[in-house]
Amino acid sequence: MTVRVRFAPSPTGMFHVGGARSALQNWIYARQQGGVFVLRIEDTDAARNKPEWTEGILSALDWIGISRGSYEGPYFQSENAGEHRAAAARLYESGRAYYCDCTREDVQARTGSQYQGYDGYHRDRGLGPGPGHALRFRTPDEGATVVVDLIRGEPTFENKLIEDFVIARGDGSPVFLLANVVDDMTMGITHVIRAEEHLPNTPKQQLLWEALGVKPPIWAHVPVVVNEKRQKLSKRRDKVALEAYREEGYLAGAMRNYLMLLGWAPSGDREIVPWSVIEDEFRLDEVNPSPAFFDEKKLRAFNGEYIRALPVADFVDACQPWLTGTETIAPPPWQPEEFDADAFAAVAPLAQTRIAVLSEIVSNVDFLFLASPLIDEAAWTKTMKDGSAELLDDAVAAFEALESWDAESLKSTLEAVGAERGLKLGKTQAPVRVAVTGRTVGLPLFESLEVLGRERTLTRIRAARLRLV
Ligand code: GLU
Repeated sequence: MTVRVRFAPSPTGMFHVGGARSALQNWIYARQQGGVFVLRIEDTDAARNKPEWTEGILSALDWIGISRGSYEGPYFQSENAGEHRAAAARLYESGRAYYCDCTREDVQARTGSQYQGYDGYHRDRGLGPGPGHALRFRTPDEGATVVVDLIRGEPTFENKLIEDFVIARGDGSPVFLLANVVDDMTMGITHVIRAEEHLPNTPKQQLLWEALGVKPPIWAHVPVVVNEKRQKLSKRRDKVALEAYREEGYLAGAMRNYLMLLGWAPSGDREIVPWSVIEDEFRLDEVNPSPAFFDEKKLRAFNGEYIRALPVADFVDACQPWLTGTETIAPPPWQPEEFDADAFAAVAPLAQTRIAVLSEIVSNVDFLFLASPLIDEAAWTKTMKDGSAELLDDAVAAFEALESWDAESLKSTLEAVGAERGLKLGKTQAPVRVAVTGRTVGLPLFESLEVLGRERTLTRIRAARLRLV
Protein backbone atom coordinates (compact mmCIF):
# COMPACT_ATOMS: atom_id res chain seq x y z
CA MET A 1 0.00 0.00 0.00
CA THR A 2 1.39 3.38 -0.95
CA VAL A 3 1.11 5.90 1.82
CA ARG A 4 -0.86 8.95 0.71
CA VAL A 5 -1.11 11.94 3.00
CA ARG A 6 -2.68 15.28 2.40
CA PHE A 7 -2.50 18.79 3.62
CA ALA A 8 -5.93 20.41 3.39
CA PRO A 9 -5.90 24.10 4.32
CA SER A 10 -8.88 26.38 3.96
CA PRO A 11 -7.97 29.59 2.10
CA THR A 12 -9.69 31.89 4.56
CA GLY A 13 -6.82 33.99 5.85
CA MET A 14 -3.09 34.36 6.17
CA PHE A 15 -1.25 31.07 6.33
CA HIS A 16 -0.90 30.09 9.99
CA VAL A 17 2.38 28.81 11.46
CA GLY A 18 0.44 25.86 12.91
CA GLY A 19 -0.67 24.97 9.39
CA ALA A 20 2.89 25.18 8.17
CA ARG A 21 3.94 22.80 10.92
CA SER A 22 1.26 20.24 9.93
CA ALA A 23 2.25 20.59 6.30
CA LEU A 24 5.89 19.85 7.11
CA GLN A 25 4.98 16.86 9.24
CA ASN A 26 2.86 15.45 6.43
CA TRP A 27 5.62 16.16 3.96
CA ILE A 28 8.31 14.40 5.95
CA TYR A 29 6.07 11.46 6.77
CA ALA A 30 5.29 10.97 3.08
CA ARG A 31 8.99 11.05 2.18
CA GLN A 32 9.95 8.63 4.91
CA GLN A 33 7.28 6.18 3.79
CA GLY A 34 8.03 6.55 0.09
CA GLY A 35 4.55 8.00 -0.15
CA VAL A 36 2.76 10.86 -1.80
CA PHE A 37 1.88 14.30 -0.43
CA VAL A 38 -1.36 15.71 -1.77
CA LEU A 39 -2.33 19.36 -1.46
CA ARG A 40 -6.04 20.02 -1.30
CA ILE A 41 -7.44 23.49 -0.93
CA GLU A 42 -10.69 23.29 1.05
CA ASP A 43 -12.44 26.18 -0.60
CA THR A 44 -16.07 25.37 0.01
CA ASP A 45 -16.72 28.24 2.40
CA ALA A 46 -17.42 30.61 -0.48
CA ALA A 47 -18.10 33.57 1.81
CA ARG A 48 -14.66 33.45 3.41
CA ASN A 49 -12.45 32.24 0.56
CA LYS A 50 -10.28 34.47 -1.53
CA PRO A 51 -8.03 33.40 -4.39
CA GLU A 52 -5.15 35.42 -2.92
CA TRP A 53 -5.24 33.28 0.21
CA THR A 54 -4.75 30.22 -1.98
CA GLU A 55 -1.82 31.88 -3.68
CA GLY A 56 -0.48 32.76 -0.22
CA ILE A 57 -0.64 29.11 0.83
CA LEU A 58 1.19 27.95 -2.29
CA SER A 59 3.95 30.51 -1.95
CA ALA A 60 4.33 29.97 1.81
CA LEU A 61 4.66 26.22 1.27
CA ASP A 62 7.17 26.89 -1.45
CA TRP A 63 9.14 29.10 0.89
CA ILE A 64 9.48 26.42 3.57
CA GLY A 65 10.59 23.86 1.04
CA ILE A 66 7.38 22.20 -0.14
CA SER A 67 7.85 23.41 -3.64
CA ARG A 68 5.28 23.67 -6.36
CA GLY A 69 5.40 20.73 -8.69
CA SER A 70 6.86 18.40 -6.07
CA TYR A 71 3.49 17.27 -4.77
CA GLU A 72 0.17 16.09 -6.12
CA GLY A 73 -2.33 18.88 -6.58
CA PRO A 74 -3.43 21.39 -5.65
CA TYR A 75 -6.90 19.99 -5.86
CA PHE A 76 -9.84 22.17 -4.94
CA GLN A 77 -12.59 20.83 -2.75
CA SER A 78 -15.20 22.86 -4.64
CA GLU A 79 -14.44 20.83 -7.75
CA ASN A 80 -15.65 17.68 -6.03
CA ALA A 81 -19.08 19.01 -5.09
CA GLY A 82 -20.72 16.31 -7.23
CA GLU A 83 -18.96 13.55 -5.29
CA HIS A 84 -20.00 15.07 -1.99
CA ARG A 85 -23.64 15.15 -3.02
CA ALA A 86 -23.48 11.63 -4.40
CA ALA A 87 -22.10 10.37 -1.09
CA ALA A 88 -24.88 12.13 0.83
CA ALA A 89 -27.42 10.50 -1.47
CA ARG A 90 -25.83 7.07 -0.97
CA LEU A 91 -26.01 7.44 2.79
CA TYR A 92 -29.68 8.38 2.56
CA GLU A 93 -30.52 5.54 0.19
CA SER A 94 -28.79 2.98 2.37
CA GLY A 95 -30.71 4.17 5.42
CA ARG A 96 -27.60 5.52 7.14
CA ALA A 97 -28.96 9.05 7.00
CA TYR A 98 -32.40 10.61 7.28
CA TYR A 99 -34.04 13.95 6.71
CA CYS A 100 -35.01 16.27 9.49
CA ASP A 101 -36.67 19.69 9.47
CA CYS A 102 -36.34 20.54 13.15
CA THR A 103 -35.10 23.95 14.09
CA ARG A 104 -32.78 24.46 17.01
CA GLU A 105 -35.76 25.87 18.92
CA ASP A 106 -37.80 22.73 18.23
CA VAL A 107 -35.04 20.58 19.70
CA GLN A 108 -34.65 22.87 22.70
CA ALA A 109 -38.37 22.84 23.37
CA ARG A 110 -38.40 19.05 23.36
CA THR A 111 -35.25 18.46 25.38
CA GLY A 112 -35.71 21.45 27.68
CA SER A 113 -32.03 22.30 27.32
CA GLN A 114 -30.06 24.47 25.01
CA TYR A 115 -26.97 22.38 25.57
CA GLN A 116 -28.30 19.03 24.58
CA GLY A 117 -27.58 17.81 21.07
CA TYR A 118 -30.14 16.59 18.59
CA ASP A 119 -32.63 14.16 20.12
CA GLY A 120 -33.17 11.87 17.12
CA TYR A 121 -36.77 13.02 16.66
CA HIS A 122 -36.86 12.32 12.92
CA ARG A 123 -34.95 9.05 13.00
CA ASP A 124 -37.91 6.92 12.10
CA ARG A 125 -40.48 9.42 10.90
CA GLY A 126 -39.75 8.90 7.22
CA LEU A 127 -39.47 12.56 6.24
CA GLY A 128 -38.37 12.84 2.61
CA PRO A 129 -36.06 15.34 0.96
CA GLY A 130 -37.36 18.86 0.52
CA PRO A 131 -36.43 22.48 0.93
CA GLY A 132 -35.19 23.14 4.43
CA HIS A 133 -34.73 19.44 5.19
CA ALA A 134 -31.29 18.72 6.54
CA LEU A 135 -29.76 15.29 6.17
CA ARG A 136 -28.58 13.71 9.43
CA PHE A 137 -26.32 10.74 9.90
CA ARG A 138 -27.81 7.92 11.93
CA THR A 139 -25.10 7.20 14.49
CA PRO A 140 -25.02 3.72 15.99
CA ASP A 141 -26.84 3.41 19.33
CA GLU A 142 -24.29 1.08 20.77
CA GLY A 143 -20.63 0.33 20.79
CA ALA A 144 -17.74 2.69 20.50
CA THR A 145 -15.68 4.22 17.74
CA VAL A 146 -12.01 3.59 18.24
CA VAL A 147 -9.74 5.92 16.38
CA VAL A 148 -6.23 4.71 15.63
CA ASP A 149 -4.04 7.76 16.15
CA LEU A 150 -0.27 7.60 15.73
CA ILE A 151 0.23 10.33 18.34
CA ARG A 152 -2.62 9.68 20.75
CA GLY A 153 -2.96 5.92 20.87
CA GLU A 154 -6.56 4.81 20.51
CA PRO A 155 -8.97 7.52 21.61
CA THR A 156 -12.32 5.83 22.08
CA PHE A 157 -15.69 7.54 21.68
CA GLU A 158 -18.95 6.04 22.93
CA ASN A 159 -21.33 6.02 19.98
CA LYS A 160 -24.35 6.81 22.11
CA LEU A 161 -22.74 10.13 22.98
CA ILE A 162 -22.43 11.13 19.33
CA GLU A 163 -25.58 12.88 18.16
CA ASP A 164 -27.13 12.29 14.77
CA PHE A 165 -25.11 15.02 13.13
CA VAL A 166 -25.96 16.98 10.01
CA ILE A 167 -24.17 15.91 6.82
CA ALA A 168 -26.07 18.09 4.33
CA ARG A 169 -27.81 21.38 4.99
CA GLY A 170 -31.40 22.31 4.28
CA ASP A 171 -30.34 23.60 0.84
CA GLY A 172 -28.81 20.20 0.03
CA SER A 173 -25.19 21.32 0.33
CA PRO A 174 -22.95 18.80 2.11
CA VAL A 175 -21.15 20.10 5.21
CA PHE A 176 -17.40 20.18 5.76
CA LEU A 177 -17.32 16.92 7.75
CA LEU A 178 -18.68 14.94 4.84
CA ALA A 179 -16.88 16.80 2.05
CA ASN A 180 -13.57 16.30 3.84
CA VAL A 181 -14.18 12.54 4.21
CA VAL A 182 -15.33 12.09 0.64
CA ASP A 183 -12.29 13.93 -0.68
CA ASP A 184 -9.92 11.86 1.43
CA MET A 185 -11.65 8.75 0.17
CA THR A 186 -11.58 9.68 -3.50
CA MET A 187 -7.96 10.77 -3.23
CA GLY A 188 -6.98 7.46 -1.64
CA ILE A 189 -5.65 9.07 1.54
CA THR A 190 -4.20 6.50 3.93
CA HIS A 191 -3.02 8.76 6.77
CA VAL A 192 -4.71 11.92 7.97
CA ILE A 193 -2.17 14.06 9.83
CA ARG A 194 -3.84 17.23 11.01
CA ALA A 195 -4.34 19.62 13.88
CA GLU A 196 -5.68 18.44 17.22
CA GLU A 197 -8.60 20.84 16.85
CA HIS A 198 -10.15 18.31 14.51
CA LEU A 199 -10.06 15.41 16.96
CA PRO A 200 -13.70 15.92 18.03
CA ASN A 201 -14.69 15.52 14.37
CA THR A 202 -12.79 12.31 13.98
CA PRO A 203 -15.24 9.74 15.42
CA LYS A 204 -17.99 11.24 13.27
CA GLN A 205 -15.78 11.14 10.22
CA GLN A 206 -14.67 7.61 10.91
CA LEU A 207 -18.32 6.56 11.15
CA LEU A 208 -18.86 8.15 7.72
CA TRP A 209 -15.94 6.21 6.25
CA GLU A 210 -17.37 2.99 7.59
CA ALA A 211 -20.89 3.81 6.45
CA LEU A 212 -19.57 4.52 2.96
CA GLY A 213 -17.91 1.11 3.02
CA VAL A 214 -14.28 2.17 2.98
CA LYS A 215 -11.60 1.34 5.53
CA PRO A 216 -10.84 4.50 7.51
CA PRO A 217 -7.39 6.06 7.42
CA ILE A 218 -4.84 6.05 10.21
CA TRP A 219 -5.07 9.36 12.04
CA ALA A 220 -2.47 11.56 13.70
CA HIS A 221 -3.65 14.66 15.54
CA VAL A 222 -0.72 16.96 16.07
CA PRO A 223 -0.76 19.13 19.19
CA VAL A 224 -2.26 22.55 19.29
CA VAL A 225 0.24 25.44 19.24
CA VAL A 226 -0.01 27.87 22.17
CA ASN A 227 1.48 31.21 23.24
CA GLU A 228 3.37 31.92 26.49
CA LYS A 229 0.06 32.12 28.37
CA ARG A 230 -0.83 28.65 27.15
CA GLN A 231 -3.56 30.11 24.95
CA LYS A 232 -4.10 28.65 21.52
CA LEU A 233 -2.34 30.90 19.00
CA SER A 234 -4.93 33.16 17.52
CA LYS A 235 -4.66 35.51 14.60
CA ARG A 236 -6.31 38.31 16.56
CA ARG A 237 -3.88 38.14 19.46
CA ASP A 238 -0.67 36.57 18.23
CA LYS A 239 1.61 36.87 15.28
CA VAL A 240 0.62 33.71 13.45
CA ALA A 241 1.03 34.44 9.75
CA LEU A 242 4.01 32.72 8.20
CA GLU A 243 4.15 35.64 5.79
CA ALA A 244 4.67 38.10 8.67
CA TYR A 245 7.71 36.15 9.83
CA ARG A 246 9.03 36.00 6.31
CA GLU A 247 8.66 39.76 5.87
CA GLU A 248 10.40 40.39 9.16
CA GLY A 249 13.38 38.49 7.88
CA TYR A 250 13.17 35.00 9.27
CA LEU A 251 15.07 32.51 7.15
CA ALA A 252 13.04 29.65 5.74
CA GLY A 253 15.60 27.17 7.09
CA ALA A 254 15.30 28.52 10.64
CA MET A 255 11.54 28.69 10.45
CA ARG A 256 10.99 25.16 9.26
CA ASN A 257 13.50 23.74 11.69
CA TYR A 258 11.81 25.59 14.55
CA LEU A 259 8.35 24.46 13.47
CA MET A 260 9.49 20.84 13.56
CA LEU A 261 10.68 21.31 17.14
CA LEU A 262 7.14 22.01 18.32
CA GLY A 263 6.51 18.84 20.25
CA TRP A 264 9.50 16.91 18.96
CA ALA A 265 13.31 17.06 19.08
CA PRO A 266 16.12 15.35 17.20
CA SER A 267 18.41 12.94 19.02
CA GLY A 268 21.12 14.16 21.37
CA ASP A 269 20.98 17.52 23.00
CA ARG A 270 20.61 19.30 19.69
CA GLU A 271 18.08 21.68 18.33
CA ILE A 272 19.87 23.23 15.39
CA VAL A 273 20.56 20.42 12.99
CA PRO A 274 20.68 20.14 9.22
CA TRP A 275 17.30 19.63 7.63
CA SER A 276 18.40 16.20 6.41
CA VAL A 277 18.75 15.08 10.03
CA ILE A 278 15.19 16.17 10.74
CA GLU A 279 13.99 14.36 7.65
CA ASP A 280 15.74 11.20 8.80
CA GLU A 281 15.04 11.30 12.49
CA PHE A 282 11.55 12.73 12.75
CA ARG A 283 9.03 10.20 14.00
CA LEU A 284 5.39 11.09 13.96
CA ASP A 285 4.71 8.68 16.81
CA GLU A 286 7.27 10.50 18.96
CA VAL A 287 5.42 13.81 18.76
CA ASN A 288 4.39 14.89 22.23
CA PRO A 289 0.58 15.08 22.36
CA SER A 290 0.48 18.02 24.79
CA PRO A 291 0.18 21.61 23.56
CA ALA A 292 3.36 22.96 21.98
CA PHE A 293 4.65 26.39 23.02
CA PHE A 294 5.47 28.65 20.11
CA ASP A 295 8.25 30.68 21.66
CA GLU A 296 8.88 33.70 19.50
CA LYS A 297 11.97 34.71 21.51
CA LYS A 298 13.51 31.34 20.96
CA LEU A 299 12.66 31.47 17.29
CA ARG A 300 14.40 34.86 17.07
CA ALA A 301 17.50 33.49 18.73
CA PHE A 302 17.36 30.51 16.43
CA ASN A 303 17.12 32.75 13.42
CA GLY A 304 20.14 34.74 14.57
CA GLU A 305 22.13 31.52 14.64
CA TYR A 306 21.01 30.63 11.14
CA ILE A 307 21.96 34.10 9.93
CA ARG A 308 25.43 33.81 11.45
CA ALA A 309 25.91 30.40 9.85
CA LEU A 310 25.39 31.77 6.33
CA PRO A 311 28.39 32.34 4.08
CA VAL A 312 28.76 36.13 3.86
CA ALA A 313 27.84 36.20 0.18
CA ASP A 314 24.60 34.38 0.96
CA PHE A 315 23.92 36.78 3.79
CA VAL A 316 24.37 39.71 1.39
CA ASP A 317 21.93 38.06 -1.02
CA ALA A 318 19.46 37.30 1.73
CA CYS A 319 19.41 41.00 2.76
CA GLN A 320 18.50 42.24 -0.71
CA PRO A 321 14.71 42.40 -0.26
CA TRP A 322 15.16 44.75 2.71
CA LEU A 323 17.79 46.83 0.93
CA THR A 324 15.54 47.48 -2.04
CA GLY A 325 11.97 46.86 -0.89
CA THR A 326 9.58 44.47 -2.60
CA GLU A 327 5.86 44.23 -3.15
CA THR A 328 5.40 43.23 0.47
CA ILE A 329 8.51 44.65 2.16
CA ALA A 330 8.66 48.41 2.69
CA PRO A 331 11.48 50.21 0.84
CA PRO A 332 14.43 51.39 2.95
CA PRO A 333 14.75 55.09 3.87
CA TRP A 334 17.45 55.80 1.25
CA GLN A 335 16.95 56.33 -2.48
CA PRO A 336 18.05 53.46 -4.75
CA GLU A 337 20.85 55.60 -6.23
CA GLU A 338 22.21 56.34 -2.76
CA PHE A 339 22.88 52.67 -2.13
CA ASP A 340 26.52 51.60 -2.44
CA ALA A 341 26.97 47.86 -2.84
CA ASP A 342 30.68 47.97 -2.02
CA ALA A 343 30.10 49.85 1.21
CA PHE A 344 27.40 47.36 2.11
CA ALA A 345 29.67 44.42 1.36
CA ALA A 346 32.31 45.97 3.60
CA VAL A 347 30.03 46.13 6.65
CA ALA A 348 27.94 43.04 5.93
CA PRO A 349 30.11 40.68 8.03
CA LEU A 350 29.82 43.06 10.98
CA ALA A 351 26.05 43.24 10.65
CA GLN A 352 25.74 39.52 10.19
CA THR A 353 26.87 38.79 13.71
CA ARG A 354 24.52 41.34 15.24
CA ILE A 355 21.09 40.95 13.76
CA ALA A 356 18.49 38.36 14.65
CA VAL A 357 16.10 39.04 11.75
CA LEU A 358 17.04 40.34 8.33
CA SER A 359 14.81 43.42 8.50
CA GLU A 360 17.14 44.78 11.18
CA ILE A 361 19.77 45.24 8.53
CA VAL A 362 18.19 48.53 7.47
CA SER A 363 18.64 50.42 10.75
CA ASN A 364 22.18 49.08 11.01
CA VAL A 365 23.37 50.41 7.67
CA ASP A 366 21.11 53.36 6.79
CA PHE A 367 23.77 55.85 8.02
CA LEU A 368 25.97 54.69 5.14
CA PHE A 369 23.53 55.58 2.40
CA LEU A 370 21.58 58.58 3.65
CA ALA A 371 22.91 62.08 2.99
CA SER A 372 22.59 62.77 6.70
CA PRO A 373 21.84 60.30 9.46
CA LEU A 374 18.38 59.78 10.89
CA ILE A 375 18.86 61.17 14.37
CA ASP A 376 17.08 59.34 17.14
CA GLU A 377 16.19 62.33 19.34
CA ALA A 378 15.97 60.32 22.55
CA ALA A 379 19.42 58.92 21.90
CA TRP A 380 20.68 62.43 21.15
CA THR A 381 19.36 63.89 24.41
CA LYS A 382 20.71 61.00 26.41
CA THR A 383 24.16 61.21 24.90
CA MET A 384 24.93 64.85 24.22
CA LYS A 385 25.94 66.19 27.63
CA ASP A 386 28.06 69.08 28.90
CA GLY A 387 31.41 68.73 27.29
CA SER A 388 30.15 66.91 24.23
CA ALA A 389 30.62 69.97 22.02
CA GLU A 390 34.26 70.31 22.97
CA LEU A 391 34.81 66.62 22.64
CA LEU A 392 33.40 66.69 19.11
CA ASP A 393 35.64 69.68 18.28
CA ASP A 394 38.67 67.74 19.40
CA ALA A 395 37.57 64.65 17.53
CA VAL A 396 37.22 66.65 14.32
CA ALA A 397 40.63 68.16 14.76
CA ALA A 398 42.26 64.84 15.50
CA PHE A 399 40.50 63.05 12.64
CA GLU A 400 41.40 65.82 10.20
CA ALA A 401 45.01 65.25 11.02
CA LEU A 402 44.89 61.51 10.49
CA GLU A 403 47.13 60.22 7.76
CA SER A 404 45.48 56.90 7.29
CA TRP A 405 41.69 56.64 7.52
CA ASP A 406 41.39 53.16 8.93
CA ALA A 407 39.52 51.68 11.87
CA GLU A 408 42.57 51.11 13.99
CA SER A 409 43.95 54.65 13.61
CA LEU A 410 40.49 56.09 14.19
CA LYS A 411 40.19 54.13 17.37
CA SER A 412 43.56 55.06 18.85
CA THR A 413 43.00 58.69 17.89
CA LEU A 414 39.65 58.93 19.61
CA GLU A 415 40.97 57.00 22.57
CA ALA A 416 43.62 59.68 22.98
CA VAL A 417 41.01 62.45 22.74
CA GLY A 418 39.08 60.81 25.56
CA ALA A 419 42.14 60.12 27.67
CA GLU A 420 42.89 63.84 27.81
CA ARG A 421 39.55 64.26 29.54
CA GLY A 422 39.90 61.19 31.70
CA LEU A 423 37.17 59.42 29.70
CA LYS A 424 37.05 55.76 28.81
CA LEU A 425 36.61 54.90 25.16
CA GLY A 426 32.94 53.96 25.59
CA LYS A 427 32.05 57.43 26.87
CA THR A 428 34.18 59.11 24.24
CA GLN A 429 32.72 57.30 21.32
CA ALA A 430 29.05 57.70 22.27
CA PRO A 431 28.64 61.33 21.03
CA VAL A 432 30.61 60.50 17.89
CA ARG A 433 28.39 57.53 17.20
CA VAL A 434 25.21 59.54 17.63
CA ALA A 435 26.62 62.35 15.46
CA VAL A 436 27.53 59.96 12.66
CA THR A 437 24.87 57.24 12.76
CA GLY A 438 22.06 58.94 14.68
CA ARG A 439 21.89 56.07 17.17
CA THR A 440 23.49 54.83 20.36
CA VAL A 441 23.82 51.25 19.18
CA GLY A 442 24.92 49.79 15.91
CA LEU A 443 27.84 48.31 14.07
CA PRO A 444 31.33 48.68 15.53
CA LEU A 445 32.00 52.41 15.30
CA PHE A 446 35.51 52.59 13.85
CA GLU A 447 34.89 50.10 11.09
CA SER A 448 31.74 52.10 10.29
CA LEU A 449 33.71 55.36 10.10
CA GLU A 450 36.30 53.75 7.90
CA VAL A 451 33.65 52.69 5.40
CA LEU A 452 31.78 55.98 5.64
CA GLY A 453 34.95 57.85 4.72
CA ARG A 454 36.72 60.94 5.99
CA GLU A 455 34.60 63.64 4.33
CA ARG A 456 31.24 62.36 5.36
CA THR A 457 32.37 61.53 8.88
CA LEU A 458 33.78 65.00 9.44
CA THR A 459 30.74 66.71 7.91
CA ARG A 460 28.45 64.83 10.28
CA ILE A 461 30.48 65.53 13.39
CA ARG A 462 30.65 69.21 12.46
CA ALA A 463 26.88 69.31 11.86
CA ALA A 464 26.24 67.74 15.26
CA ARG A 465 28.64 70.21 16.84
CA LEU A 466 26.66 73.11 15.34
CA ARG A 467 23.48 71.78 16.86
CA LEU A 468 25.13 71.93 20.26
CA VAL A 469 25.90 75.64 20.13
N1 GLU B 1 -9.61 22.50 6.04
C1 GLU B 1 -9.37 22.07 7.39
C2 GLU B 1 -8.63 23.16 8.13
O1 GLU B 1 -8.03 24.02 7.50
C3 GLU B 1 -8.49 20.85 7.42
C4 GLU B 1 -9.20 19.66 7.88
C5 GLU B 1 -8.34 18.43 7.85
O2 GLU B 1 -7.11 18.51 7.77
O3 GLU B 1 -8.94 17.37 7.86
O4 GLU B 1 -8.67 23.18 9.33
